[in-house]
Amino acid sequence: MKKLTILGSTGSIGVSTLDIVAANPDRFEVVALTAGNNLELLAKQIQSFSPRMVSVLNADLALELDRMLTGTKPEIFHGVPGLIAAATATDTNMVVAAIVGAAGLVPTAAAIAAGKDVALANKETLVTAGRLMMDLVREKGVKLYPVDSEHSAVFQSLEGQSRKDLKRIILTASGGPFLTLPLERLTQVSVDDALNHPNWSMGQKITIDSATMMNKGLEVIEARWLFDVSTEQIDVHIHPQSIIHSMVEYVDGCVMAQLGVPDMKAPIAYALTYPERVTTGVKPLDLTKLTGLTFFEPDNARFPCLGLAYRAMADGESMPAVMNAANEIAVDAFLRGRITFTEIAKLIEMTMDAHHPHTLSVIEEVLTTDRWARQKARELLGLA
Ligand code: NAD
Ligand code: MG
Repeated sequence: MKKLTILGSTGSIGVSTLDIVAANPDRFEVVALTAGNNLELLAKQIQSFSPRMVSVLNADLALELDRMLTGTKPEIFHGVPGLIAAATATDTNMVVAAIVGAAGLVPTAAAIAAGKDVALANKETLVTAGRLMMDLVREKGVKLYPVDSEHSAVFQSLEGQSRKDLKRIILTASGGPFLTLPLERLTQVSVDDALNHPNWSMGQKITIDSATMMNKGLEVIEARWLFDVSTEQIDVHIHPQSIIHSMVEYVDGCVMAQLGVPDMKAPIAYALTYPERVTTGVKPLDLTKLTGLTFFEPDNARFPCLGLAYRAMADGESMPAVMNAANEIAVDAFLRGRITFTEIAKLIEMTMDAHHPHTLSVIEEVLTTDRWARQKARELLGLA
């Protein structure tokens, strides 16, 4: 029986994870759930899954949740200490890290430090603190399973193979909603246009990241750490149909790929039940119904964020954390209508240009770097 803590249970990944739990009651028990401010959904999840503890964003929300609940209530925590308590709960043996953004770093690190296996959706944890996290994973001997569909595809394509034979990883990318939009119109796209992803239904932040392709940049960094390869060994191919979720090329010229209809339930389930497979309700792939599978190189002028991610990795250890923080500020500013779509990449680049990269020896330094970059990006926006 897997005893789960789900960090970010009210988000897109959190909800899909609980769907899998509900479909496999003999395999899973829910120990703890954490949410931001969506109390209504959290209350429903508490009713359905009876966690013994939950955590919400702040003390006011914790009080409000307590008032909303009737009958047997879980213990209610809040804030970062609440996330850490949920991530390190003694009876939990697997933590699903599904908080969005750098806010996921501290609880995910706490889970690993406490010896929990982790199903990782929160790619920002590896982007901001990849080396420190992987060192901790090795030191604690825990398992880190990818939830991100591309990384699940790579993980599956590496199974049974000898790592010395790996030549390169090819991450596929849908290209998002603006793949074919005339370049000069990119400055005018609306928030709704950017949130209208052609293939995947996801949280707001990652949907914007997919439109800028910063998501793929974050994923290149995530893959570098998860699979211990250099960024030079990671290529990105645009594949608008999102059927091949990623590939591994070997020295003999053979390429292994994982295919399926785009539905996060498949990679989530694999992370939860590896090495076994369970039914997920994901629609079967009917290759005869496909009109074609196409692949091409991403265009730098259209997707400058992808280049920024490679640059951040080359610049030095603290730069990916700076890039990530600036991206979070930029995406938020775009969603609030403060900047245009094309200004997202510009703000990130300007923040990176202002940073002097350095090494990171402890998580606290990552947090300091993250705060510095948020402040700098806000300054550049004229908000601080
Ligand atoms: P989402 O916005 O739908 O959900 C985020 C969750 O985190 C919510 O439960 C929210 O309440 C919680 N949260 C947000 N800020 C918080 C904070 N400061 N403190 C505590 N909790 C907080 O996001 P999502 O789309 O589910 O993505 C979650 C993570 O998974 C991201 O890192 C994303 O990149 C990754 N991911 C998502 C998908 C997808 O299909 N949605 C695919 C691959 C990877
Ligand atoms: Mg992905």
